[in-house]
Amino acid sequence: KKAEWAKLVNEPTVSKDGHHVELAANIGTPDDVTGVLENGGEAVGLYRTEFLYMGRDQLPTEEEQFDAYKKVLERMKGKSVVVRTLDIGGDKELPYLSLPKEMNPFLGFRAIRLCLEEQDIFRTQLRALLRASIYGNLKIMFPMIATVDEFRQAKAILLEEKEALQAKGVEIAEGIEIGMMVEIPSSAVMADVFAKEVDFFSVGTNDLIQYTLAADRMNERVSYLYQPYNPAILRLVHMVILAAHKEGKWVGMCGEMAGDEIAIPILLGLGLDEFSMSATSILKARSQISKLSKQELEGHMETILQMSTTEEVISYVTENFHIEK
Ligand code: PEP
Ligand code: MG
Repeated sequence: KKAEWAKLVNEPTVSKDGHHVELAANIGTPDDVTGVLENGGEAVGLYRTEFLYMGRDQLPTEEEQFDAYKKVLERMKGKSVVVRTLDIGGDKELPYLSLPKEMNPFLGFRAIRLCLEEQDIFRTQLRALLRASIYGNLKIMFPMIATVDEFRQAKAILLEEKEALQAKGVEIAEGIEIGMMVEIPSSAVMADVFAKEVDFFSVGTNDLIQYTLAADRMNERVSYLYQPYNPAILRLVHMVILAAHKEGKWVGMCGEMAGDEIAIPILLGLGLDEFSMSATSILKARSQISKLSKQELEGHMETILQMSTTEEVISYVTENFHIEK
């Protein structure tokens, strides 16, 4: 099996009926790019930059960040690299920021909320990204966007930093795409409005599932409610894809669900454009997609979206579609 998958390492990802999707990888450090290239990743769909900030006793400088972003962009040689701005808080703490303890950290002061408040931290990261942009194909993505206002503010700050750098004569890539994660139900529900303002969406199912079913992703007691194939999740993903495509924007997914063999036929049928997963899942996913017909899957989507339970979805998918094992 592994040998069969390995043959696909330099191949594009194409369904049985000729539809191309992009298989990207999630990374946490520049060194992770090795695994992406070895496993035939077509892009980096999520660079979790918080690892630059963790396991140390002070903030990373602009230069340190610039070096890391430049390295990833160069090593990806013009392939798309989606960098997510700092997503700290929730399960990830930064001891040196000494933030007050919260009752519900997952519903608290984290990610873009922190960045819009602590703007020095955010602006430093944005400058490092903008300066690195000429070394490859950079796309910038904001995490945990709940409202259109947050997206507008984040984008405005990014444009301010860009203009300030350009005024100083710093070269910055043209047409850097600016997108957001859809990982809070409000942004999935409002996807049609967001779609007019973003260049792309990336669905973060790890959080979207916990917020939609109100089941803490770290809490074993409620893990039975953490249901990726719950029709509620599938409907939200469907809404996001429809809304984006209506505005000519692309949609990726960078939660664990994107590399899951039960989810893949559904996501392909719903029209997901980019699947971002751990590098080691890419070849298996490419093989599975090559055995699935997108058009045929599309014909099943209405049935699946009308189902009542997770169990129904799982049995239907396993009975009707090729599941790569
Ligand atoms: C997600 O929420 O799906 C996601 C990709 O982000 P993280 O797992 O880093 O919260
Ligand atoms: Mg998340």
